[in-house]
Amino acid sequence: MAQLSTLARGACPHDCPDTCAWTVRVENGVAVELRGDLDHPFTAGGLCAKVNRYLEDRVYNPERLLYPVRRTGPKGEGQFARVSWDEALDDIARTLERIIAEDGAEAILPYSYMGTQGMVQGMAMDGRFFARVGASRLERTICGDNGQAGVAATIGIDAGIDPEDIVHARFIVIWGTNTVVTNLHLWPFIQRAHRAGATVVVIDPVRTRTAQAADWHVQPMPGTDAALALGMMHVIVAEGLHDADYIERYTVGFERLRERLKEYPPGRVATITRLAETNIVELARRYAATRPAAIRTLIGMEHRQNGAMTFRTIACLPALTGAWRDRGGGLVAMTGRHIRNTLPMKRLWMPDLEDPSTRQINMLEIGRALTDRSLRPPIRALIVYGSNPAVIAPNQTLVLQGLARHDLFTVVHEQFLTDTARYADYVLPATTQAEHLDLMYSWGHLYLTLNLPAIDPRGETVSNSELFRRLARAMGFDDPVLQQSDEDIIRSVLDTDHPWLEDITYDRLLERGWAKLRIPEDWRPFAEGNFPTPSGRCELYSERLAAQGLDPLPNFEPARESPAGEPELAARFPLALIAAKSALHFLNSSYSGTARHLRAEREPLLDINPLDAEARGVGDGDLVRVFNDRGAVELRTRLGERVRAGVVSMPSGWWASHSRTGRSANALTSDGVARWGRGGDFHDTLVQVERLEPAVA
Ligand code: SF4
Repeated sequence: MAQLSTLARGACPHDCPDTCAWTVRVENGVAVELRGDLDHPFTAGGLCAKVNRYLEDRVYNPERLLYPVRRTGPKGEGQFARVSWDEALDDIARTLERIIAEDGAEAILPYSYMGTQGMVQGMAMDGRFFARVGASRLERTICGDNGQAGVAATIGIDAGIDPEDIVHARFIVIWGTNTVVTNLHLWPFIQRAHRAGATVVVIDPVRTRTAQAADWHVQPMPGTDAALALGMMHVIVAEGLHDADYIERYTVGFERLRERLKEYPPGRVATITRLAETNIVELARRYAATRPAAIRTLIGMEHRQNGAMTFRTIACLPALTGAWRDRGGGLVAMTGRHIRNTLPMKRLWMPDLEDPSTRQINMLEIGRALTDRSLRPPIRALIVYGSNPAVIAPNQTLVLQGLARHDLFTVVHEQFLTDTARYADYVLPATTQAEHLDLMYSWGHLYLTLNLPAIDPRGETVSNSELFRRLARAMGFDDPVLQQSDEDIIRSVLDTDHPWLEDITYDRLLERGWAKLRIPEDWRPFAEGNFPTPSGRCELYSERLAAQGLDPLPNFEPARESPAGEPELAARFPLALIAAKSALHFLNSSYSGTARHLRAEREPLLDINPLDAEARGVGDGDLVRVFNDRGAVELRTRLGERVRAGVVSMPSGWWASHSRTGRSANALTSDGVARWGRGGDFHDTLVQVERLEPAVA
């Protein structure tokens, strides 16, 4: 019998800037091959080591959840028995109704993030459903918000030039991001620029793979990037290397900035950053003198109380030197806003359905919210989808205590039995990207991609949108917007006359799979000002910030947990912790439970400088305890210069259940919410290290 073979176009669903386009070959209803799309200019046929075996690792993984299950043992033990969808939905709906009757709908909390970053499966029907319920609203600010707030304060939008234009740059500063690992499809563009003569500089407190591949690695102390940017600006202005014409025409507040810069001579900045003064001066001179000059930022620096100010300060540099004038010059920041601004995004989650007076709970404070006995109403039901708070949320011990509460009703929609799912009362099986329809935006390039289901959903798995359609029916909600189909949602969000979307329709995407926003070929968004700020200029001084009681000028603020911020704490816990992405094989906490990826990562290691190790009697490979007042983690060391003295680093994505003593990096991290940006301050974390056992011979 002849085989029926088809090809479905799609895109990677993960929380990664690259949003790779892929094709899935299907034979007789079985997906047999998944490859990066060769024709896609950004993907260029390659997927990363995490995802290149997506079919066997996720879609057909024998450990995948295919049926609804109900808990049969203690919370956290992972004992479940299969139930029917009808049984599960009926019990969930009746339980939610009872909680609403007793304590009000705010006793229900949704918890989600970018487990899939598709517009339909990640940010549509769920929002409508919870608005209809009247549940507590989740502030989804775990990633990106501090940095975006900071960049937008300076240039009016949290996005810069087309990342593909970095190929034209001749001085590239990769600032606080590990491109080779976390944004690997941008790297070939940087390599092309390098071959054409560009200098590549990496500013990062960790000697990452990208830092090793660069011409020059600048290694400041963590959290001091704003001071470095101010020191660079000091040199640029003091030596007359600034673009006076660009500043005069297109910026506001230069004279006040000039006064502020007097506080940051290179000598003082050298003390703050622990860089050589000569390095700071040379970096400033070369950045200002080489054109086009691009600064590449992403996420790394933002998870701090001073994160927004750091990004705001760095975003001033291209205006000071007029780098925006050149193709390939300026800031290469997240691109998501460019895409979101072209689309009527509100048609997805329909925020008008929401009562703005409903309580908000920040996702960073999930541990506190679940364990705070004074909270009224208390959180009595937690509905988790597209996230794994037991691993990714800070202050892990508190989060696990909360999840273990016997009076908390927890429902988790998942593909695998994650650490969070182990605490659930019901785990409902989720489709993979090969089994549902979605429209993908990207925060790392300017392409929209249609993801078509390649195969039927396996077992009884359902997509995120189908889950909430079913839950709505089970709760008797008859609002038509709670039953809209995925295709209708996509068609409605593409129905716009924005010039950048000309000819980009659902049917065109069906043919080709993806399309780039119709930006001009030589697109220099701020070459002649046109900043979308209140003044229309790049705001070196910001009236908006002043009105909010924030510093209106770029500035450096020491980390909250630092010798300058909390001296007593720093005396007890003298090492700054970077809980870094272990992104070679894990993606946040995705793949940290997959056998192939676990084998590749082997075990989490603590990077520690030999000076700090010696001071503690710690050798390479020793088992150590890393601790602070929030918790403790046990792991083995890796001695070397990847981090400077005073800094330690460990990977953040390991599941607690796979770690010694049941705790991973977030047992240590701070769960504060930044006043400006409302994002996290994970990296404002101090720890101490002590030796437990010598290395295994
Ligand atoms: S995780 Fe990122 S790099 Fe890997 S396939 Fe997905 S989008 Fe591409």
